[in-house]
Amino acid sequence: MTIVQPPWIETSGARDWPMHVAGLPVGAADEQWIKVYSPSQPEILLARIPRGGAVDVDRAVTAARQAFPAWRALHFAERQRRLLAIADSVEEHKEELARLTAVDTGNALRTQARPECQVLADLFRYFGGVAGEVKGVVLPSGEGQLQYSVRQPLGIVGAILPWNSPLMIAGMKIPAALAAGNTLVVKAAEDAPLAVLRLAELCAPFLPDGVLNVITGLGDECGAHLVRHPGVDKVSFTGSTAVGLDVSRAAAARMVPASLELGGKNPNIVWPDAVSEATIEGIVTAMRFTRQGQSCTAGSRLFLHRSIYDEVLEGVVRKVKQLRIGDPLDEATDMGCLINAKQHQRVSSYIREGRSTPGTSLVYDGAETLPTGLGGFYHAPTIFSGNNTWRLAREEIFGPVMVVVPWEEDEEVLAMANDSNYGLAAYLWCENIDRALGAASRIEAGWVQINQSGGQVVGQSYGGFKQSGLGREVSLEGMLEGFTQIKQVNIRISR
Ligand code: NAD
Repeated sequence: MTIVQPPWIETSGARDWPMHVAGLPVGAADEQWIKVYSPSQPEILLARIPRGGAVDVDRAVTAARQAFPAWRALHFAERQRRLLAIADSVEEHKEELARLTAVDTGNALRTQARPECQVLADLFRYFGGVAGEVKGVVLPSGEGQLQYSVRQPLGIVGAILPWNSPLMIAGMKIPAALAAGNTLVVKAAEDAPLAVLRLAELCAPFLPDGVLNVITGLGDECGAHLVRHPGVDKVSFTGSTAVGLDVSRAAAARMVPASLELGGKNPNIVWPDAVSEATIEGIVTAMRFTRQGQSCTAGSRLFLHRSIYDEVLEGVVRKVKQLRIGDPLDEATDMGCLINAKQHQRVSSYIREGRSTPGTSLVYDGAETLPTGLGGFYHAPTIFSGNNTWRLAREEIFGPVMVVVPWEEDEEVLAMANDSNYGLAAYLWCENIDRALGAASRIEAGWVQINQSGGQVVGQSYGGFKQSGLGREVSLEGMLEGFTQIKQVNIRISR
């Protein structure tokens, strides 16, 4: 198998990729670096990124603070103009960003990285478009009084990104915060920072210095300093529930608002009337197999009605077998590789546990379908049948591992679906619309899809119930709730 090299490696070898603070490319104050390797070719050093620490966080927050008064004072149309110009620039550089994302994350170029870059451009365009909707209201307060409210920016947003779809998550935070008049310090994930650093370079010509600062470093150093920095007015975090809890405690200790987009263990429920090729395809899409299952919205608990259990499962296995696993940059690849050795070992240990748990069976083991000669952190799709109380059905594996559970009564399946600490997404496959809407109403999840399973739609309210998070993104209401605060002004008018 031919492995395609990242473009700059062929010409110049690994490069040092700076952070972006106060409009300048900078290294870490103490000149420490983190090495970034390619998940698909772990022997290849892609780049070194600064290992930012307390001093770097402080410089970035100071830059954002200095830039804030002028940025918030702009007419919204000016912020809008700049966000739309960035959207155009992202679109012009889409292929470059997508290739970078593929080598940085291990996600396949065709199925994941390209669509993700389009969503990034769309998010800048959307939030640029709604920048003028940051409006207040005037109370009908009678003669002698003018009583109005304004929505004001919160100030300095500290945003923390995960590695699984770094550009899309950056797009959920950066343009929304900027449109509302905030300035930002964004911390990229240490495992997949390159596309986010390139995004900072693309944004730079359109933003005043200090409005968008992008820093890099380890979570428990750089990230921990950022969420605790006294100059940060709002924390916007996407990542694991365990770290999210720590971030939320740190924000609460300073009484600053925190939005949290966390993990998921999402139900994918099939009713007997919905059996079709489209449903089978939709189940595979919902599981996010083409992102190696590394998605918080992966429909990783498949509940099949007993009467159609064998038929649907057979169809799902048939479809999954067709997925082509390989080099993320290869156009023929459907599914790339996991992010790193730690994640690979974690997924393997869940699979080992699944294989040795009495009462469960391995329905599909794709290990033998892995092409030879792949050196990276590849894992094939794996499907177990089991029950909903089993650890594999309760914990977020964040890998291509699906658990199938049979059911008979609606009450029973809805109880199982809701028996989870998580509540991010749910997929319902049901032709009877009354039944489907009844289930949608009772499912404890922030996002329910019926008879479809695509990714987030720009403009929708996106966020989790329960331990999947707090707050909403991707939408106008998410921007207003997440990045503004209301000030009421009451004036006595002399007669
Ligand atoms: P993670 O929690 O390990 O890391 C996320 C980010 O937090 C990284 O930038 C990391 O450096 C930083 N971090 C780590 N420790 C920190 C600390 N103590 N203080 C501050 N920052 C810290 O998550 P991950 O492994 O990068 O991403 C996978 C997780 O993210 C999964 O659980 C997934 O479900 C979740 N996720 C959720 C959504 C969503 O929208 N709900 C989207 C994508 C990913």
